[in-house]
Amino acid sequence: MFFKNALFCLGQRRISTINKYMKNNGGRPRKSGPTSSTAARLLTSHTTSTTTTTTRPSPSLTVTECIRQNQHQREELAAAYQVLQHFGLSEGIHNHLSTRAPARNGTGEVMLVFPFGLHWSEVTASSLVGVDLEDDSIVEGSGQPEATAISIHCEVHRALLQTGSSMNSVFHVHPPYVSALSCLKDPTLRMIHQTSTMFFKDVAYDTAYDGLANTSSEGARIAKQMGGKSILLMGNHGILVTGKSVACAFNSTFYLERAAMVQILAMSSGEELVELDDETSSVTHKALMNTFLQDSKLYFEAMKRVIKNKKPPNFTE
Ligand SMILES: [Zn+2]
Repeated sequence: MFFKNALFCLGQRRISTINKYMKNNGGRPRKSGPTSSTAARLLTSHTTSTTTTTTRPSPSLTVTECIRQNQHQREELAAAYQVLQHFGLSEGIHNHLSTRAPARNGTGEVMLVFPFGLHWSEVTASSLVGVDLEDDSIVEGSGQPEATAISIHCEVHRALLQTGSSMNSVFHVHPPYVSALSCLKDPTLRMIHQTSTMFFKDVAYDTAYDGLANTSSEGARIAKQMGGKSILLMGNHGILVTGKSVACAFNSTFYLERAAMVQILAMSSGEELVELDDETSSVTHKALMNTFLQDSKLYFEAMKRVIKNKKPPNFTE
């Protein structure tokens, strides 16, 4: 109750900040209301960046350029669904990946996400729907995303926009090993392996699981829990990964699962873990981050080739 009251009190003051931001970036100002008020003050310390991987439309973008960038983001996101499915990191027709792109009509941005009911292997650029982050309405494509896709992703994207974060992609998945980690009383990702250090001091933890995240207030609470980190480990649930591009979000998702796999396997031995000290973890983390953008792009492009080279399924033989 205290949290809800606090949101109500803080919300109206921050809405003007979002409206100002959206106007300055070629988008439409958001309407005030319960959803916008809860999104308005989240992710308060996300690092800002001048990276070129963001897709905030400039007022000077032509409609033709918006359409081109929208299509590019669609193809990237559709590939991410298929690549993660290839690795067995999907969850039936559930879980969701999203990214922002210039709207095809040239006014502001949309959040791209898949409509509920498709298998991830079926997701294509044209099957994605575009969601207006002003009122969560579907403005591109047909179909309806799952309720939790709207409540989680819209709130997180709004929070990212509000804080000027460079993150434009949000992945929510239940990979087996990191989900197993989320079920432990202490779900901390331990710095016990080189891959683990990719996430040194960049994981937030939400241990207050309270059922399906199918309301905007729960989505806002989840966004708040990120607290400026790139990744949220959701207790008894899964993970939320943000990235400066679809490729970056994919790379983080893949390697976070690998780090969790190593940890779970090492813990299952029953032997004591050898933890890296903070200095070693920090130095290794910085070295890995120096090439993170390039590595993410190279790995994602490689996986797109793998998917393209797969033989089409044949159900009739
Ligand atoms: Zn989930």
